[in-house]
Amino acid sequence: MTERGSAAFQEGIQQLRLTLNEEQYAQMLYYQQALLEWNTRFNLTAITDAEEVLLKHFLDSLSLLRVYDHPQCHLLDIGTGAGFPGLVLKIVRPDWHVTLLEATGKKVTFLQHVIDTLGLAHVVALHGRAEEFAHKQMYRGHFDLVTARAVASLASLLEYGAPYCRVGGLLIFPKKGDLAEELAQGRRAAGQVGAMLLADDTVTLPGLADGRRLLVWQQQKPCPTQFPRSGAMMAKKPLGSG
Ligand code: SAH
Repeated sequence: MTERGSAAFQEGIQQLRLTLNEEQYAQMLYYQQALLEWNTRFNLTAITDAEEVLLKHFLDSLSLLRVYDHPQCHLLDIGTGAGFPGLVLKIVRPDWHVTLLEATGKKVTFLQHVIDTLGLAHVVALHGRAEEFAHKQMYRGHFDLVTARAVASLASLLEYGAPYCRVGGLLIFPKKGDLAEELAQGRRAAGQVGAMLLADDTVTLPGLADGRRLLVWQQQKPCPTQFPRSGAMMAKKPLGSG
């Protein structure tokens, strides 16, 4: 480890054609250490190895920039956990307005700690559930980009995410493994929430050669107001099933 992280991390940053300045590297390394330290007291992530945090959390989060990279963006990260991918993207794209939404209070406390310590502006950590915040008028159709990593099936993610996305905006969901059935269901769900599959992008980066993909959807029209349904309804009758 150096003050720019490991060799594999730097190689990945280069492959993504990103340029990080010294402050951004320092912010990443602070975040990495805070995560490892807080994780000994609270269960924030299953990953406890410093190098794996760099590759499987940070680099993986940054892979979204392969398919979406604009100078300005209002980003929503649903079920961000300890900040993946949203808080990592915020460090590398400081001009973005980032909203991190997370149901578990102690994770929100961690996010706020990192945000405050790094002095990041235009980033908020909200404590709550996606299916509830989505019915607040101020968030409806508000975001250019909606993401969620390791939170739910594609059909559920589309039901959570589409209401937040502006028409013409994107929803990007990182996934791995065999998705045939999940994707078929996701496509049916997308039709119901006004979204459409745009791209299915394979991600290969150092330490991440395990079938990672980015599923990219575009919001075609405003999501009908009945979505998202309650968590109980979503579990009982998943969108696009059958
Ligand atoms: N995105 C992070 C965390 C994944 S774990 C990562 O990739 O590392 C899934 C997280 O989603 C958990 O922290 C859980 O509390 C949160 N979550 C699950 N359902 C949610 C919902 N409906 N609304 C908000 N957060 C949710």
